Amino acid sequence: MITARAETVVVGSGPNGLMAAVMLARAGREVLLLEAGDRFGGGLRSGELTLPGRVHDLGATVMAMTLASPAFRALRLEGVEFVHPPVALAHPLDDRPAVLLHRDAARTAEGLGRDGRVWQATVGAAARAGFPLMELLLSPLGPWRATPREFARAARFGAAALLPATVLARGALRTVEGRALLAGLAAHSMLDLRSPTSAGYGLALGALAHLVGWPLVRGGSQVLADALVAELRSLGGQAVTGHRVERLDELDARTVVLDVTPRQFLAMADLPPRYRRALSRYRYGPGVFKMDWALDGPVPWRDPEVGRAATVHLGGTLEEIAVAEAEVAAGRHSMRPYVLAVQPYAADPTRGGHTLWAYCHVPNGSTADLTDAVEDQIERHAPGFRDRVLARHTMTTADLEAVNPNLVGGDIGGGLNSLAQFLRRPVWSPAPWRTPLPGVFLCSASTPPGPAVHGMGGWQAARLATQAERHAR
Ligand SMILES: Cc1cc2nc3c(=O)[nH]c(=O)nc-3n(C[C@H](O)[C@H](O)[C@H](O)COP(=O)(O)OP(=O)(O)OC[C@H]3O[C@@H](n4cnc5c(N)ncnc54)[C@H](O)[C@@H]3O)c2cc1C
Repeated sequence: MITARAETVVVGSGPNGLMAAVMLARAGREVLLLEAGDRFGGGLRSGELTLPGRVHDLGATVMAMTLASPAFRALRLEGVEFVHPPVALAHPLDDRPAVLLHRDAARTAEGLGRDGRVWQATVGAAARAGFPLMELLLSPLGPWRATPREFARAARFGAAALLPATVLARGALRTVEGRALLAGLAAHSMLDLRSPTSAGYGLALGALAHLVGWPLVRGGSQVLADALVAELRSLGGQAVTGHRVERLDELDARTVVLDVTPRQFLAMADLPPRYRRALSRYRYGPGVFKMDWALDGPVPWRDPEVGRAATVHLGGTLEEIAVAEAEVAAGRHSMRPYVLAVQPYAADPTRGGHTLWAYCHVPNGSTADLTDAVEDQIERHAPGFRDRVLARHTMTTADLEAVNPNLVGGDIGGGLNSLAQFLRRPVWSPAPWRTPLPGVFLCSASTPPGPAVHGMGGWQAARLATQAERHAR
């Protein structure tokens, strides 16, 4: 049965789907955007999860990749204000002051003592190489367009980036602080820190802090999603919530752009056997257990400097974080997990009071409630935290997948971030956004350059769709 008809249909309104819809509408296409949820945005959704008036981001809060993204920079959206916390990131430690990641590389290096010089020579140098380097990282086609000088800079950075975080940390860094900082950053990858490329995630996130900062969207991430929808509508596009597409044959469209992951695509379409087999081999990563709190005041961090950072990494030393992440990679729960926390009030006082969110990694599909383990890690560095809690909201992996089907088994990255899947995301191809079905494109975080709010998957899918249209004429 045909249920939706338009020249171009975009399925899913995460940052990639929204970016594709806007780019195609700007190219003069008639665009219909269909979103299964009751709100646009996917990982950009915000809502009152705890108390009335408290704005919580359901997914992404920290918009470093957004500022670095060539797609978002080209868009020049109106009405979206990025606000920077005084400190990008804090990593508290038990017996010493917290490690701080500042916007300024030199200031960060100063706090790292004996490791300051190495930090400047790696992360600082990558940041100083500027946006061309980040464009190279954000676009898998980039290296072939780069100048020899840009390529040489990227290659210098790239060699260290290929290493496991544990190897780079132990080989290049000497201090507890430097090693912990790298481990906390690298653990964003959700990889075992003994895996190749886990260091790369750490270095890239550090470089982004120096390059563009780790800002938030004033008022909540939903503001960014709503601005993209408004832009689409101003160009004549239509956008509908509460419409879940189960099968592609429900759509009557010349072009379809899918902001879904391989497992959903497999269920939606009859695909050629070879491509189907390749998608069936696609691997999902660990899930997350996520918590949101309404607090009656700021978190009482033992080291007050931590209160100036929007993002806080909890879990202690390199060794502790490496053990916690290895447990999860092996399919077990860590009772002393690495916890990634965000306190938006450090940058944005417009969210209805003090709110906090945090997640820890868990095995994909886990049903466990890790409330105590997560709160213990916060209490460890902020005694009295639990007394500040007015209300809490928890989400297991199944709860996450229920609000966003792209979060398969609670995997917030759209698939494992391994080296193999960096090259084969979701298939080995110079244009993996194209599918064997004519006019059908994939754009989600399961395509390059992978997770985060950069919209580059959507930008690439829209570029290929526009090209295909031109050739067909
Ligand atoms: C808890 C959490 C914290 C995060 N923190 C950050 C952060 O701080 N910074 C950062 O950069 N990134 C962060 N991320 C990652 C980031 O949110 C994602 O990488 C990004 O949103 C992926 O965008 P996407 O467009 O590929 O898909 P998504 O944002 O996942 O959106 C997919 C959309 O498609 C819809 N959909 C799926 N199937 C269908 C269907 N069949 N029919 C109709 N609609 C459908 C879904 O409902 C959803 O709205 C976080 C994610 C989570 C979950």
